[in-house]
Amino acid sequence: MHNRRFLSIAWFAALLLAPLLAGAADAGLLIRDARVFDGDTRQAAKVDVLIEEGRIARIGTGLQGGAETRILDADGLSLVPGLFDLHTHWTPNTRPAALPAIANAYLDAGVTTVADYHQAPEAHAPRREWLDRLAAPTVQFGARVSTPLGHGADWADQATTRWVNSPDAARAAVREIAAYRPDFIKAFTDGWRYNNAADNTSMDEATLTALVDEAHRHGIKVFTHTVTVERGKQAARAGVDLIAHSLLDREVDRELVDLMLEHGTAYGPTLAVYEPVRVGDGPPRNPDSPVLRQRRINFATALANVKRLHEAGVPVVVATDAGMPGTPHGRATTRELELLVGAGLTPYDALQAATATAARVLGTPDRGVIAQGARADLVLVEGDPWQDETAMQRVRRVFLAGTEVTGPDARRPAANARDHLPPRPLPALIDDFERGDGRTALDTLRIGDADGGNDRTWQSSLRVPRDGGDGHVLSTHVRLSHSDNAYAAVILPLSRGSVAPAGLAAHAGVSFQARGEVGSIRVEIRGQDGRRWAHDFEPGPQWREYAIEWDDFAGLAPWGGGDPPAWRPDDALQIAFSVAGDPGTTGWYELDEVRLYGGPEGVAP
Ligand SMILES: [Zn+2]
Repeated sequence: MHNRRFLSIAWFAALLLAPLLAGAADAGLLIRDARVFDGDTRQAAKVDVLIEEGRIARIGTGLQGGAETRILDADGLSLVPGLFDLHTHWTPNTRPAALPAIANAYLDAGVTTVADYHQAPEAHAPRREWLDRLAAPTVQFGARVSTPLGHGADWADQATTRWVNSPDAARAAVREIAAYRPDFIKAFTDGWRYNNAADNTSMDEATLTALVDEAHRHGIKVFTHTVTVERGKQAARAGVDLIAHSLLDREVDRELVDLMLEHGTAYGPTLAVYEPVRVGDGPPRNPDSPVLRQRRINFATALANVKRLHEAGVPVVVATDAGMPGTPHGRATTRELELLVGAGLTPYDALQAATATAARVLGTPDRGVIAQGARADLVLVEGDPWQDETAMQRVRRVFLAGTEVTGPDARRPAANARDHLPPRPLPALIDDFERGDGRTALDTLRIGDADGGNDRTWQSSLRVPRDGGDGHVLSTHVRLSHSDNAYAAVILPLSRGSVAPAGLAAHAGVSFQARGEVGSIRVEIRGQDGRRWAHDFEPGPQWREYAIEWDDFAGLAPWGGGDPPAWRPDDALQIAFSVAGDPGTTGWYELDEVRLYGGPEGVAP
């Protein structure tokens, strides 16, 4: 008890000191003689910019700072607002180990504000906490909504991506999501798969209209995955804030342009992911493959459409789909500038799409500009990016709220170099299935997991009374899909959103009670970077107690291949129970009293 109180006081003191230790920014920073692109006007002038307390205090010539002000001679360099990317995926959501490396990649590229479309709402708060410990771009988090068998709903479960197919279902989903305070909703409205794969379902206009209306009532913006012209019209009529992909089934028409202008719909074409051979791809194995031929046709349409919409006055923003194959974090964003210029925008317009326009669409008007009072997220580059779209590849220094985080005088917290948060000790009881709200005894949201695709593995997990008594168990029924790698898993996250690892060293193993008729069940410890350790057992129709020592867990080869990991007691994100087997297999099992044994009952001090 005393120890813990002392710790929390120490933490509080550290938090108070943190801004003082950050140092230079608070003494002020004067950037002299840079050519300044302010994001808003069509001039770039050689001026001084004075930064105080993280914001731009003054802009002018011959500025003087105080005695402590750090002076930076930027003669020969250009100063631009930090870039935005309004469509990124900090993938994958149960492999959080990549988070610091992704943050570093954005800072190195001069990207200081991004929207993340990938995380389950449960993970938003713990990810925000982690980002607060790092030098990192500001990340706005989206909550995902699709349709049953829609794009984005073809992997993971409804805790990650809600499925709605009626106006009432859409409103109910938004109300539930709103409790997580997401920064925006990503709605998958369009199941067209580019003439390159089987289509998914789409969201009808009445459902989308209700979704947007309910989201706006809660002050939440809606960005959509919309890729065809007709559904683009539906999105505009429904009041969607941003179409976050290209419309590329055909050339846009006057009706679409008028609807987007009338409703103020912005457009983020993600050319970086549609480029036939993407900036992060190697040379194609077969340059004449039908897929690549179709991609070239689609991309030509994408280029023509963004040019037409931009010329008509539709706000165009930089968005890339970074984190998807071929689109590396950071480089995809600067590549998007080059592709916008390839489409026919001027370098100036492309840079504005990455700064002032993106800031307005995201609802952060004190960013994306170099103006008095704006947050000092700034980039010094070699060359003039408003005249040369490749100049953003020559970033020299990046400032976050006035603190240099990339460049010769950069300081990043030690946490930027670590791929995990400190492991947290756990109490013994993981889940006795006595809570009625779908959460474990650890207060984490129980989730399901299965192979993806349109032929869904079907799994139903319900909490039911145990043997007619007062206690409860988790009862799971499974029908596997016809895919070769069909499986169904019940996941007990060991921390909220499976972001911070749990320390298991204080305990000897995991125990639980089970019965079922389902062949064998795999109990798995899942770690941070795709590491997995498994033990298989075969339940019978009668209840039995199982106790499995950590030594009895065998490392599994990673999904992409490679050596099985050695056991790590500091690396557990989840305990999963999974069923695999022949295509179409059905079965059931029940679980109770999942515990860590051989250690303290409560949380270690
Ligand atoms: Zn995406």
